[in-house]
Amino acid sequence: MKSTHVTNNPQGGTTAGGNGDGEAPGWRESVVDLSAKVAVVTGGARGIGWSTCIALAREGIRAVGVVDMAEDLPASVEQLNAKLGRSVLIPYRGDVTNGDFRRQVFADLEKRFGCVSICVPAAGITRDALAVRVNKDTGEPEVYSETDFRRVIEIDLTAPIYWSLQTIASVTRSRLQRGVKRWTPEEPIEGCIILIGSVSSTGNRGQISYATAKAGLEGAQATLAAEAIYHGVRCAIIHPGYTDTAMVRALGEDYINSRILPQTQLNRLIRPEEIAHAIVFMIRNAAVSGQLWVDAGWHPAA
Ligand code: NDP
Repeated sequence: MKSTHVTNNPQGGTTAGGNGDGEAPGWRESVVDLSAKVAVVTGGARGIGWSTCIALAREGIRAVGVVDMAEDLPASVEQLNAKLGRSVLIPYRGDVTNGDFRRQVFADLEKRFGCVSICVPAAGITRDALAVRVNKDTGEPEVYSETDFRRVIEIDLTAPIYWSLQTIASVTRSRLQRGVKRWTPEEPIEGCIILIGSVSSTGNRGQISYATAKAGLEGAQATLAAEAIYHGVRCAIIHPGYTDTAMVRALGEDYINSRILPQTQLNRLIRPEEIAHAIVFMIRNAAVSGQLWVDAGWHPAA
């Protein structure tokens, strides 16, 4: 067994057991190699999901199942594959809340490429309204729509969890087929789930359903992080701040300029590519777990 020791590295720093002397493994040795990996990204036709697909493809991943309801998904994927010079992205059109569709996507990816071990369930919606408001016409209090609440929970909380569970099951099946069960630290990491939270997970006026769903994902992340490493799968959550996508543009320029930008340190919306870059870092660095806030310094007023 190699012992941990302190040495001077070539950059002049001091490192304990790192690769500065070329002997012991450092961070480069534990970076997750994506070349044989298969990922599934939901909400992959737009915004953060789309940028994540591009970033994973550029990192050399073997294949990405791109899941979305968008009609233009197959055409956009075809164009992007042509640009990338290989058929790395595989489009799957459907609703992420449909369990049969989800199982079909995994069955098809597994048949064509083998085990699906990376999942970024990014499909999401907002249905913003005050929790209780007084109707100006009737003068009566009105509570937030139960239909909207259930739909947001279904898409933003239940669906990402089930796409994640299906990914862990895919890894588990593959391991059982290879005759291995409990993952051991001598093995490379098998897979990774990156849930998409939000700065709204800490609560946000007008977002009773969305904030509840995003806060719920934190509980799912913590539970899966504890359970899934048995199968060699890490689970982490990223909390993006306001990012320049259709979801945020729908709020309108006035709202963005007056209510969002002044409450960020960068004084601009985050680019979806910046979130995708952080997601790829979380996937590739084997030591990353827990939560990463990529929020442009979001500090909402009370
Ligand atoms: P976008 O609206 O740009 O993209 C989301 C994609 O998900 C759309 O293509 C949408 O399709 C698709 N989608 C929605 N519902 C379903 C469904 N039931 N089945 C399949 N596809 C579906 O959103 P963003 O890129 O902004 O958001 C991505 C994730 O990041 C979401 O989880 C969001 O909550 C989260 N996030 C976003 C932030 C932001 O500021 N943008 C901040 C923090 C978190 P369609 O267009 O047809 O609805």
